Amino acid sequence: TLLSDPLPILGSLFIILAGKTIAAFLIVLAFRHPVGTALTIAASLAQIGEFSFILVELGMRLNLLPEQARPLVLGGAILSILVNPLMFAAIGWVQGRVDGRKAPMDEPQPSPAREPLVGVTLEDHVILVGHGRVGGLVAEALQAAGTPFVVIEDSEAVALKLREAGITVLDGNAVKPGVLAAANLAKARQLVVAIPNAFEAGQVVQQARGANKTLPIIARAHTDPGVEHLTAMGADTVIMGEREIARGIIERVTQGAAA
Ligand code: AMP
Repeated sequence: TLLSDPLPILGSLFIILAGKTIAAFLIVLAFRHPVGTALTIAASLAQIGEFSFILVELGMRLNLLPEQARPLVLGGAILSILVNPLMFAAIGWVQGRVDGRKAPMDEPQPSPAREPLVGVTLEDHVILVGHGRVGGLVAEALQAAGTPFVVIEDSEAVALKLREAGITVLDGNAVKPGVLAAANLAKARQLVVAIPNAFEAGQVVQQARGANKTLPIIARAHTDPGVEHLTAMGADTVIMGEREIARGIIERVTQGAAA
């Protein structure tokens, strides 16, 4: 079919590459994810595989597709799989052009709070990732105990407040390359990952464990799969929020029952 009927095959390939890619790209953008994420997902979906063969068989059995559809889908699938690495290679190029075009207008101007990452010189310190409802309380306790610590905080507003309060803070997302290292991971006493997103927390734990095999890591979770994931990534202790709330309630309930 490739040799005798190339045009319909190219048409099928075009539908697979352009149609699926554009649809996926727009859907991901509609969910307000960055262009880079949309491009990656679009490229990864710019192919079809074995599921399409099942659909073709079913379509033919139900008389919805003609016999000629089979080689077109098979050819389209094989060619789209072959072309897929090129789609990934093209992402970098497209991303560069998109970034280059939007930079003068859309790119947020660096604000005074987002200081360039300067590595800390602390040693035997605690690294605290996230200074929200949980991390804020941990920081208070560390301060009260006189334990040296550095906070890694993604929110510029929170980081600015901490800096104004005299707390050592690294302004950035702990998942990003270089941020954990800037907290002097190698010489730290402990790492506390106090962010709510188990997936991101898992990435932080995994990076930290990769860089420091013996560092005690305490992480926060909210679900049982979250606990499992963080443990698998290398956390020594995982505190599950809901379990601790239940523990607090049970304590008071049983005390009430005793009284
Ligand atoms: P909360 O859920 O109230 O404990 O707040 C979590 C805090 O962690 C917020 O201040 C977030 O800005 C911060 N945060 C969330 N993810 C990250 C991350 N990957 N790196 C650094 N800080 C983070």
